[in-house]
Amino acid sequence: MTRIRMTTPLVEMDGDEMTRILWHQIRDILLVPFVDLETEYFDLGLAHRDETDDQVTVDAARRTLELGVAVKCATITPNAQRVEEYGLKKMWKSPNGTIRAILDGTVFRTPIVLPSVTPFVPTWKKPITIARHAYGDVYRDAELRVDGPARVELLVTRPDGTETRTTVHDFDDSGVVLGMHNLDGSIRSFARSCFRYALETRQDLWFATKDTISKVYDHRFKDLFEEIYRDEFRDRFRESGIEYFYTLIDDVVARIVRSEGGVLWACKNYDGDVMSDMVASAFGSLAMMTSVLVSPDGCHEYEAAHGTVTRHYYRHLKGEKTSTNPMATLFAWSGALRKRGELDGLAPLVRFAGLLEDSALRTIEDDGVMTGDIAPLSGRERKTVVDTEGFLRAIAARVAASLEKES
Ligand code: NAP
Ligand code: MG
Repeated sequence: MTRIRMTTPLVEMDGDEMTRILWHQIRDILLVPFVDLETEYFDLGLAHRDETDDQVTVDAARRTLELGVAVKCATITPNAQRVEEYGLKKMWKSPNGTIRAILDGTVFRTPIVLPSVTPFVPTWKKPITIARHAYGDVYRDAELRVDGPARVELLVTRPDGTETRTTVHDFDDSGVVLGMHNLDGSIRSFARSCFRYALETRQDLWFATKDTISKVYDHRFKDLFEEIYRDEFRDRFRESGIEYFYTLIDDVVARIVRSEGGVLWACKNYDGDVMSDMVASAFGSLAMMTSVLVSPDGCHEYEAAHGTVTRHYYRHLKGEKTSTNPMATLFAWSGALRKRGELDGLAPLVRFAGLLEDSALRTIEDDGVMTGDIAPLSGRERKTVVDTEGFLRAIAARVAASLEKES
């Protein structure tokens, strides 16, 4: 069998713990046998981030801006316990935070839907994608405790010395206060990424904030989305037969639960954090949620939404075989290969990405072969629970059979 050719390398970001094991199993069992895989490899494993003073993360993100498509393994965000466990020089920042700051993107999260797994919301027939704005608001706030009677004000000082101030509250007693911000530029990029993604995936776009209460802050989001829609996207949405609509966040929550799914739901930073966990668990499992960061100029970085599955890794280190679910990591690879194929005009690579996903889904749905986390959720009668390697080999057998039939 001739292996499928690539012309531009993917930026490959390796990671930590159990997902690092999955990473190399997926490569060896499902990719290298079929694709003449071309990547530029960056080791974002914690030990190597520490060795390079985290320069490797910055280099990988910058290279993504140049090459356009990256695939990333889950990585440890160090806390005090990890600093000790790995003997780190310092508590390095979240790699995803660093990458997002460089790519300035929006994160899109979509569950992988299995017909035999009924979502906890039974009306949901199609996946719901959450688009999360990844800048500002409460994640970059300033907070204070007020220790007694006080006037708290917001003060804006311009370079020419002029000022604008407004009272937040006249405190009679102790309390708390918070100041947060966002940037017109970042909101505009967020809007453009959402409109583009909706067009690319041909899904309606819903956007919601609380502009009836937050009449300046949230209203600015609403206005900028409206302006960009009107000036840059309205005609293309009409041609594609998809719709953009804005409503209040509480209204959208009520509508989502009664919907069939199949929409792109754009959320402010905090709403996206909360709602993506809600959507992932309501569809079945965090292990089945994919994630892609899309920059305003169209760079794509694919990953799984879950972490490094530490508990499984410790069992792996003791020599036990684990039944860790590789689906989200596998879909990160297939997503990146498909995007690379589309950009480079490589139809066989695009087809292979689809075949990989289809074979993985059929291994579960048609053969009843699955990992331990899916078995209790699946409504299939006959189920065979296998370890990760067994699952990947079953998928590989299906891929090989399909490719042989084609040739
Ligand atoms: P996690 O790795 O997502 O795992 C939490 C639990 O969810 C697991 O213990 C497991 O449950 C289940 N699970 C998640 N993915 C699974 C899979 N593929 N197959 C089967 N079960 C799966 O979250 P965490 O334990 O909170 O975080 C571990 C590390 O990941 C942390 O160091 C954190 O910094 C990092 N993290 C990285 C990213 C990223 O790089 N994008 C995101 C989140 C967290 P059972 O043990 O019950 O089987
Ligand atoms: Mg969260």
